[in-house]
Amino acid sequence: MAAEVVVVGSCMTDLVSLTTRLPKAGETILGHKFFVGFGGKGANQCVQSARLGAKTSLICKVGNDSFGNDYVDNLKKNSISTAFVGQTADAATGTASIIVNSEGQNVIVIVPGANLLLNFEDLKRASDVICKAKVVVCQLEITPAVSLEALKMARASGVKTLFNPAPALADLDPQFYTYSDIFCCNETEGTHRTPVSCFLNAVRKLLCLDYASGLAKWCNGSHFGAEILTGIPVGNLEDAEKVGRMLLERGCKLVIVTLGAEGCMMISGDEPIPKHVPAGKVRAVDTTGAGDSFVGALAFYLAYYPKLSMEEMIRKSNCVASVSVQAPGTQSSYPYRKDLPQDLF
Ligand code: ADP
Repeated sequence: MAAEVVVVGSCMTDLVSLTTRLPKAGETILGHKFFVGFGGKGANQCVQSARLGAKTSLICKVGNDSFGNDYVDNLKKNSISTAFVGQTADAATGTASIIVNSEGQNVIVIVPGANLLLNFEDLKRASDVICKAKVVVCQLEITPAVSLEALKMARASGVKTLFNPAPALADLDPQFYTYSDIFCCNETEGTHRTPVSCFLNAVRKLLCLDYASGLAKWCNGSHFGAEILTGIPVGNLEDAEKVGRMLLERGCKLVIVTLGAEGCMMISGDEPIPKHVPAGKVRAVDTTGAGDSFVGALAFYLAYYPKLSMEEMIRKSNCVASVSVQAPGTQSSYPYRKDLPQDLF
């Protein structure tokens, strides 16, 4: 059966060790806790969409290894079609190995592995599912040229394109703007955070290693999302409007800048006045992956409630994402349809 929401993107396995201190070069130390998490922006967004009830398919690549097998099981458990999840023997499943000490400092090694082997041939094989979707969603944790090609294939078939330019690239190919019906990025990090989530957000920022460009360059929190794309830091709603207009001028039809606890700014080519869509006040414990929850929810509303106004879709997506920040973890915090207020549907 055709999927209504098709996501082309990444799968990553997070391997997290908690220790009292970080090891020095050549040193072996004991940790006190270890856990494995499912992540990667593509998979996160697809999981949130599926949990709201969307028929989804994820186009991605994992390794022919135990992490890859576990990831495929995780997708199946979330009712996501894995028909176009490739498993390769040429690279391992993408991983983020993370060591966190008791002060919240960390060292992280990201190996994108199989994610960077997703290629044009894989897209061609999946062309039927891409072209029959209602919405195609892409990000930048796979080779950017592959994301761009997926957006082009979708556009050629009249499928709505939702692009989340994360992790942000300063030299983003300008075609990404023209092939995005909706261009959804986040603000500069750090201004809307709860103290409790600061450490987890630091981990998340570090996870946004700009590996897609092949450079070992950390995306530091003060150069993030909208700021890295435009050079303008976003500290308030006026700034968000300004960067939104700049991005709109580059050719997309609609820009959404997510603003953490403040919700979103929506800047549309059809409406002269940008619209701030606030999020509800909640007690956030962990905002990791909130942006992916938002994007996944938005894809769901675009596919299943196309008659809603964009403002209403954003308001509902804010509600879904604000539920996700009230529980720890990434995918583990994403709500299911049955747990949400029924007026969201
Ligand atoms: P990212 O995770 O990409 O940095 P944001 O932090 O901007 O994205 O969050 C995305 C969305 O998640 C927001 O637009 C909002 O809907 C929701 N959200 C994030 N943080 C909070 C919060 N503290 N309270 C309520 N909603 C939040």
